[in-house]
Amino acid sequence: MDWLIGGGEMGKLIRSIDWSKTPLGAIASWPQSLRTTVSLCLASNFPISISWGPNYIQIYNDGYWPICGKKHPHSMGQDFRECWASAWPAIGEAFNRACEGEASYLENQRIFLDRNGYMEETFFTFSFSPIRDETGGVGGLFHPVIELTQQTLAERRLQVLRDLSDQTTDTKTVSAAIAAVAQTLAQHDLDLPFVLIYLVDSDAKQARLVESVGLPKDTITSPTLVNLDAASLTMWPLADVVRSPHSLQVDGLQDRWGELSCGPYPESPQTALVLPIRLPGAEHPMVLLVAGVSSRRPLDQPYRQFYKMLGDAVTNGLSKARAYEAESKRAEALAEIDRAKTVFFSNVSHEFRTPLTLMLAPLEDALSDTEAPLPPSQRDRMEIVQRNGLRLLKLVNTLLDFSRIEAGRIQAVYQPTDLSKWTAELASTFRSLIERAGLSLVVECAPLSAPVYVDREMWEKIVFNLLSNAFKFTFAGQITVRLQDVADRIELTVADTGIGISSNEIPHLFERFHRVKEAQGRSFEGSGIGLSLVQELVKLHGGTVHITSELGQGSCFRVVIPTGFAHLPSEHIGTSRTLASTAMGASAYIEEAWRWLPIGRDGEEILSFAPSASSASSAPSTPSTPCARILLVDDNADMRDYAKRLLEQRYQVQAVADGIEAIAAVSQHIPDLVLTDVMMPRLDGFGLLRELRSNPQTRELPIILLSARAGEESRIEGLAAGADDYLIKPFSTRELLIRVEAALKLAQIRREAAIRGRAGEAVTKCKLNSLV
Ligand code: ADP
Repeated sequence: MDWLIGGGEMGKLIRSIDWSKTPLGAIASWPQSLRTTVSLCLASNFPISISWGPNYIQIYNDGYWPICGKKHPHSMGQDFRECWASAWPAIGEAFNRACEGEASYLENQRIFLDRNGYMEETFFTFSFSPIRDETGGVGGLFHPVIELTQQTLAERRLQVLRDLSDQTTDTKTVSAAIAAVAQTLAQHDLDLPFVLIYLVDSDAKQARLVESVGLPKDTITSPTLVNLDAASLTMWPLADVVRSPHSLQVDGLQDRWGELSCGPYPESPQTALVLPIRLPGAEHPMVLLVAGVSSRRPLDQPYRQFYKMLGDAVTNGLSKARAYEAESKRAEALAEIDRAKTVFFSNVSHEFRTPLTLMLAPLEDALSDTEAPLPPSQRDRMEIVQRNGLRLLKLVNTLLDFSRIEAGRIQAVYQPTDLSKWTAELASTFRSLIERAGLSLVVECAPLSAPVYVDREMWEKIVFNLLSNAFKFTFAGQITVRLQDVADRIELTVADTGIGISSNEIPHLFERFHRVKEAQGRSFEGSGIGLSLVQELVKLHGGTVHITSELGQGSCFRVVIPTGFAHLPSEHIGTSRTLASTAMGASAYIEEAWRWLPIGRDGEEILSFAPSASSASSAPSTPSTPCARILLVDDNADMRDYAKRLLEQRYQVQAVADGIEAIAAVSQHIPDLVLTDVMMPRLDGFGLLRELRSNPQTRELPIILLSARAGEESRIEGLAAGADDYLIKPFSTRELLIRVEAALKLAQIRREAAIRGRAGEAVTKCKLNSLV
């Protein structure tokens, strides 16, 4: 027995067994080959079993011991085939081959072992090697084994979680995500023999079975509707789980409810877990997941951990789907609002166009009537109405263009056009305006090799918008309009030597209603939609718009469109228009631009220091300050003319276009009152107010602000800034005159009080002197 020393617990056990009562016989009789093999086995830390003799008596070491489970110690000295009969489908063939002298090696074999009183799913890598005895025949088998059950199951379960994540990731609704969870889990019945998914209603009163995997629906084990209020008599403690943050384990399923008709094994699952799936921020779980536990695995720590991670993965998948669903509902609601807005714009624009056109047509007739011509003073008034009516119509038409573009209803009619000639003609309509402003206009439109397909009305709007912007923002130098062929494209360039645009503004220029803050153009007026319309119209020609600009140097707008017509929808080529046209022609742009000039079209100075032209008799009351001088500041030429004409009935009026001009005028001659617009280029009304209040000579000067910004806050802001009064546009003639008169009177009273105060002081001083 000297050779049988050590070997740990199994060494002790082997030494204690009376082997003479076994087919191996007493230890002393064991052949050397067996002795050597046993001592090798006991000396190894690696799990090894050997089986010897015709009865394949099993001897194993400490490493192999746990593999035997509850079979130990009976398994020591047992016939290997009898001990591992349950594993025979997986190992039998390899065993038999080894008995015939051929070694075999099998990797990560799935083996069902009955070692703990039930069939257990296990994984092993092992080999069987024949051991030659003294006769040269196969005396026994050498069987090293490594158990991989936990690693293999961990990988397999990880795959479940990965699949869940993959399958739910693109789901767009919670119900689609639940269906994807069910479909995925159906592929993994080895770990999840059955799964029931219950959807909890919003007040957590009922749970409805929405998916059943592995079990038929609507049986005692899978009720379709579970009342969560009453003490539940169902198999699953759903009512308890809905109120608890934890999952609950249900045991003894078969004993209590009979066999469950589910796979993948003949044995019915005994245990299930009920998992609450609570989405972030929710008061109670949205879903309850009943997940069966494999009948061939113990619910050990790793398996429990798997259920926890399963719950997390389902929560994650459903949360993402819910977020997506909420987001798309929001987007849909926004799209709905957008559609409604488009319809509204389109309806409103139509509604505006009809009365506007009906007003402008008779006005046009009246102005061109040579048989009954209007007297000059009426003509002036009517011309203001016409100009502003046209401006309104232009704005309404632009809004209508936008709503048509958004609704996909814009109607383009692409016609082969001599674009060079057409562009040169359009640009030339601006010539006299541009030259009158002291700028030069360079038009370089060389003949093109072929006609270009454009919608002429749209092209007109593109050219006019770019040109009128160039004019508005250029005070010296030149404006260049160039059209040229560049390979298979046509390039229109409108360049100016104006104020330029800072680089951080350029990316926003095409955004609707975007205007550059404090950009000092000829007029402060504008809606910020001209360039976005240009971009939309260019897009409809399959083209692009590019800007290069440098502050103080000028800007260059480049429109590039493809030649030919392959890029254009064929149904829009050469057809005729059925929707009402929104083209306004050059006059709408040019008439508006003329009003930005300080000189009139015929060279007359619009802004003159004019003494009262008409007598004060038509005024509502006799002014207390008939010769008072008023400085009127407004950048809108029509508004300026209108207010000037009103005030001239009673006062001397000087009209200027912005705060800077006003400061210059005041330094020449301090007026009795300043009436100023708030929003103006260069120096606005508030700026002017500040300047005048900070100058001791004009600190007391009455100042009235005029603004289109209605509302109490704007009024308070104006008065807090030191204005004497704040008038909201539009105002009536009477209101303007009364306010101006009141401010003048107040100033006069203050002046008189100040004089009386000074006289009083002088008398007092005199008296004091005489006393001394
Ligand atoms: P609007 O002229 O009605 O304000 P646009 O969409 O035509 O609206 O222009 C948006 C803004 O882009 C203008 O307010 C102006 O600040 C700037 N801009 C456009 N064209 C030029 C230009 N040629 N030079 C300088 N700034 C320009």
